[in-house]
Amino acid sequence: MTEIKAAWERERERDRIDLSAPDAAPLVDAFQRRITYLRLSVADRCDLRCTYCMPERMTFLPRAEVLSLEELYDLSRGFIERGVSKIRITGGEPLVRKDIVDLFTALGRHLVSKGGGGLKELTLTTNATQLDRYADDLAKAGVERLNISLDTLDRARFAVLTRRDALPQVLDGIAAAKEAGLKVKLNAVALKGVNEDEIENLIAWAHGEACDVTLIEVMPLGDVEEERLDQYLPLDQVKARLEKRWTLTASDANTGGPARYWDISETGGRLGLITPHTGNICEGCNRLRVTATGQLYPCLGGSERVDLRAALRSDKPQVEVADALDRALMIKPEKHHFRMDERGADPHLPRHMAMTGG
Ligand code: SAM
Ligand code: SF4
Repeated sequence: MTEIKAAWERERERDRIDLSAPDAAPLVDAFQRRITYLRLSVADRCDLRCTYCMPERMTFLPRAEVLSLEELYDLSRGFIERGVSKIRITGGEPLVRKDIVDLFTALGRHLVSKGGGGLKELTLTTNATQLDRYADDLAKAGVERLNISLDTLDRARFAVLTRRDALPQVLDGIAAAKEAGLKVKLNAVALKGVNEDEIENLIAWAHGEACDVTLIEVMPLGDVEEERLDQYLPLDQVKARLEKRWTLTASDANTGGPARYWDISETGGRLGLITPHTGNICEGCNRLRVTATGQLYPCLGGSERVDLRAALRSDKPQVEVADALDRALMIKPEKHHFRMDERGADPHLPRHMAMTGG
């Protein structure tokens, strides 16, 4: 039996760290935004090396610094107690973490759809390289849809962009997810001179596969050996180009997240645009992010953080974690600080996306 399965068995008898409190208050920040969504990174490691995300020789964290699956589970339960109803597991690549399915299975028991309480959605963001192996288990655990990152359908280009020749594996993973009944949304980072000539094809292909697509502007997260401004492609330009070919109608779909959505009449699919540099994405922010080491970043584009690992490993985890969460709510900034045109001599935040989780 793996450790987390054993932990789950033990919990049924008595003794996971119980972070619940009878008077657990909902999470509301200083700007009256209600927090209902946790993005939980379970690994900083990855089997790809996307050029906009990390350098080839990335220094990964020593394993001891990363939260155990049991700690990730206990923390998640603490968040659920305080009103978090959606958890997205991310990384790094979440599916390279050993025994990760056990975490999904344990969390899945809190899904309303599984007869549990509190959790309305359990999902993940993945590069899909391991999905062929895991799609069925994820579906069994209660995952109903997931985000898959795919920036190009050209094998040679994929190999350059991710520094690994893994496109066939990824396409198999997407097919396996669909076969397992999982609804797939594709995320693509729009990159100047890299995939900009392919974006229409990527959208047409995805919509043909019944997958919605979200395009993302590259964000200045971590040093990646490449010049960020060289990669930056404003999505208003992309949208203008798409509108020459297709009819885009603004959709009122709203996930409480940063994307704005358009329906494309000709393809019958939906397009999301995440524009941190050209649009305000913060007003209705409903999320918190926790890294694999238990650092809670209330904002992807800020340096504010609180240490949940220290709280969790303290003598009084229940009190300390509750205090840390309250502190995080007070320091969650009104808006992010990573507009590239405003950063001047400080071009990027010190954290890679693979640390905070996308
Ligand atoms: N490995 C998984 C994957 O790629 O889906 C999950 C983690 S990855 C960090 C999550 C998302 O962040 C991916 O869609 C990726 O394209 C995006 N991403 C990584 N670095 C980024 C950056 N600097 N700017 C914008 N998006 C980025
Ligand atoms: Fe890995 Fe995802 Fe970063 Fe690509 S974007 S290197 S797949 S963590």
